[in-house]
Amino acid sequence: MSMLFRKVAFVGIGLIGSSLALRIRRDGMAGHIAVSTRSQETLDKAEELGLGDSYTLDAAEAAKDADLVVICVPLGAYSAVAETIAPSLKPGAIVSDVGSTKSSVITDIAGHLPEGVPLVPAHPVAGTEHSGPEAGFDTLFEDRWCILTPPEGTDPSALDLVTQMWRRAGSNVEIMTPAHHDLVLAITSHLPHLIAYTIVDTATYLEEDIKAEVIKFSAAGFRDFTRIAASDPTMWRDIFLKNREAVLEVLGRFNEDLTMLQRAIRRGDGDALFEAFSRTRTIRRGVIDAKQA
Ligand code: NAP
Repeated sequence: MSMLFRKVAFVGIGLIGSSLALRIRRDGMAGHIAVSTRSQETLDKAEELGLGDSYTLDAAEAAKDADLVVICVPLGAYSAVAETIAPSLKPGAIVSDVGSTKSSVITDIAGHLPEGVPLVPAHPVAGTEHSGPEAGFDTLFEDRWCILTPPEGTDPSALDLVTQMWRRAGSNVEIMTPAHHDLVLAITSHLPHLIAYTIVDTATYLEEDIKAEVIKFSAAGFRDFTRIAASDPTMWRDIFLKNREAVLEVLGRFNEDLTMLQRAIRRGDGDALFEAFSRTRTIRRGVIDAKQA
């Protein structure tokens, strides 16, 4: 298969960065992969795993001469990263990312980029609850969606190259506006994480003897929430701070629906409960049909 980029630079090489680097290497999408990260420990790990061709703690050094720079750090660090790499970007270099919210990417990055450097924000809707370069694997993005949110007027050839990269990583690519992305993901990802964090946190405040029983009998449902609630706290703190409006919007709706169920339970309204629980099975069938189960 043909090479898409002479040099790709990674700023951040955790779960998502390492998975993409492995795939780019496996499929010969780049001539050179430059890896940069914040800590020496992670850089050493990335080198041990052979994720790149060059390694540095200096993001600007990695970005120098790169045709594509992929930002793979928590959303709260975006602005500082963009400021650091901006002076070393060559004209025509493409800047992309993998962040879980998208309106904030434009706000935090676009203003720092020099003229003639297209920004093609991306969100691979794939992941695990594990972090760090050793958690990565080259099939992570297979049969998953990757959502691109190019700002209006983005150079079509830059968009095409980033699209090709994600397709070759095994993903289905969809293009949408950042605001639409943020609302959809607030329901499909951010709200479920918030609920899981809440349920598990409620359990942490139980009396010790009850807590022990909760863990013992966790297979009844609680266990599945603990997996989600074990996700990286830095990443999720940043997601809620960066997608504030959309999350508050869906949280308002969720609270109304929860109150409706609470009232049905209090009133012994079995019909209302049965109806609600039947409606939701249709969504589950849709998820299975869409091969997202
Ligand atoms: P990760 O495994 O925790 O790796 C984070 C990387 O960012 C590491 O290289 C880390 O460097 C670096 N980093 C952390 N804080 C930093 C800071 N303040 N300044 C500069 N660098 C910093 O994270 P990840 O799961 O790959 O997530 C990366 C991005 O992907 C996030 O924006 C997240 O929203 C998005 N995303 C995640 C998932 C998921 O399921 N995990 C899915 C889709 C998208 P050191 O280790 O050297 O400190």
